[in-house]
Amino acid sequence: MRNALSIDVEEYFHAHAYEDVVERAEWGGLPGRVRANTRRLLALLAEHGTRATFFVLGWVAERHPELVREIAAAGHEVGSHGYAHQLLYRQTPAEFAHDLARSLAAIRHALGTDVVLGYRAPGFSLTDDSLWALDVLRAHGVRYDSSLQPVGAGRASRLRGRKRSGVSGAGRFAARLAGGLWEFPASTLRLLGRNWPVAGGGWFRLLPLWATRAAIARINAEGQPAIVYLHPWEIDPEEPPVPRAPALARVRHRLNLDRTEARLRGLLACGEFGPLREVFAAELAEV
Ligand SMILES: [Zn+2]
Repeated sequence: MRNALSIDVEEYFHAHAYEDVVERAEWGGLPGRVRANTRRLLALLAEHGTRATFFVLGWVAERHPELVREIAAAGHEVGSHGYAHQLLYRQTPAEFAHDLARSLAAIRHALGTDVVLGYRAPGFSLTDDSLWALDVLRAHGVRYDSSLQPVGAGRASRLRGRKRSGVSGAGRFAARLAGGLWEFPASTLRLLGRNWPVAGGGWFRLLPLWATRAAIARINAEGQPAIVYLHPWEIDPEEPPVPRAPALARVRHRLNLDRTEARLRGLLACGEFGPLREVFAAELAEV
């Protein structure tokens, strides 16, 4: 079965670990790594004859329109990761509409086309409190959302003061929502009575490759393609230090950055991957 591979194109200083220590006004002054890292990913994918969906942050697309064009020219799908990497539930609907429109404009300007099918929120921040974002996506012509990490109820985890993910009662697989928008959730594995976000980010860096492959095989055995995700900064062990970053956040963020590229190669060598728009072509063709 062909699985979906997605890359959230952002700088290392946009990552969750640093969101509360790096001010937006500082972004422009920090050394940028996204262009070189994304190009390394493009070369790696080309080596394996694999194409993916790149959810590009508008802030990055504005500064590096040529990078967006390189991604598209290599046959990959370009989607939106929003503009300023703001969690959905920390925005008002009006703020999100502005952020989304600005990101779409930057990508469309870079590509010279109107077609941007997909959106992924920073931090998989689609929760019980931010479901209004789906209406905003629809209103802006987006066809699918991949911002859900179905690991539980968004409200419950907020009570514990942690980063929130999940929507109460949401399923683990592709679902058509009211109004025709599709939801393609990040893959989870059902184990010990709960859903584990095994197929990307810190989990992909933490688990040995065989465990990730076994998780994908389990999801495929359920008759569903897996949706795997990673970031360009995850293959960059040379990442510059981020000022004021708390030690624990830094350790978690930097875990196994020196091993991820080899793991990705291993993953691509033993499975077939493609962009979401192709893996879910049949769903998206439904009217
Ligand atoms: Zn992100």
